[in-house]
Amino acid sequence: MKKRILIINTGGTLSSVSSENGLVPGLSSHEMIEELQMVSKDLELVTEDFSSLDSANIFPEDWASLADKIGMVCGDYQGIVVLHGTDTLAYTSSMLSFMLQNIPIPVVVTGSQLSIAHPVADAMENCRCAIHMAASGHPGVFVAFNRKVMLGSRVSKVRTMSFDAFESINYPNVGEISSLGLHISKDTLPVKKGIFRIQAEYSEKVFLLKLFPGINPDVLDILQEQGYRGVYIEGFGLGGMPFLKKDFISEVRKVVSRGMVVLVGSQCRYEGSNLSVYETGLEALKSGVLQAYDMTAEAAVTKLMWVLGQTQNPREIEEYFFVDLAREVTIPD
Ligand code: ASP
Repeated sequence: MKKRILIINTGGTLSSVSSENGLVPGLSSHEMIEELQMVSKDLELVTEDFSSLDSANIFPEDWASLADKIGMVCGDYQGIVVLHGTDTLAYTSSMLSFMLQNIPIPVVVTGSQLSIAHPVADAMENCRCAIHMAASGHPGVFVAFNRKVMLGSRVSKVRTMSFDAFESINYPNVGEISSLGLHISKDTLPVKKGIFRIQAEYSEKVFLLKLFPGINPDVLDILQEQGYRGVYIEGFGLGGMPFLKKDFISEVRKVVSRGMVVLVGSQCRYEGSNLSVYETGLEALKSGVLQAYDMTAEAAVTKLMWVLGQTQNPREIEEYFFVDLAREVTIPD
């Protein structure tokens, strides 16, 4: 019997067409199925249109309904492919990695830099990789792009135009397509840690703040007054923050003591943060911040949203940031 793969289309460049207002998502999955079937003759493809959106218009409620949808149908398929715009794809794949706890089948998110309707597009190649990963039998949330398979919780969009738009950050690729076919490195795959559960609750009361020299610390107070419960701060280098003149760390201490969750990582994309090296990091740690270590910004923000949707208990929130839920983080020993 042929393996059944569900293709869920959310929009993005892959399904886009030209319009008076520029490129807009337009093709339905039904209009694409013939071409998709060409790269997956040995599989039964079923398509479904979830939305037709530029991914700049994807919101957290879309992540939750996508997760619910996947949870509802995953028993009927051997794998699922999600077609998505590339701009916010890494946020979606990160959040799905948290919401689809211990998903028993592969869920592979992909998109393209050129529409499937374009003769030299990367769309078919990315779909081919995604569909075959979806049929691989390896459970988890992945991203397929430019002949690479990456963990959904580790990707970032790093290029705006090239076909090699995504990288797996601080983590090896899970798989690659070469003359060996689709080769998967087994030790990079997600590890099942419990029962399969859809946990789609989240909080939108989070903020992403990138430090720059001279930043006014009052911003934290303002966020808290506005009801924000968590902030992910991209600090300098290993995660440092200023405490002279405009004393940012004192303000951090203040908002943390009033219940704000402050997660700190690095502005540098590679190699992660470590607040235990410099005084500018150690002082931040003493003020009660949590560490993002080597997480991508996309994983840090979505993990913060997700954790705050699971619990209000400060001890449990802290514990969530000391565990690796979906291989999104390397916690040092
Ligand atoms: N603006 C598009 C989107 O994210 C870009 C793409 O899909 O490549 O929906």
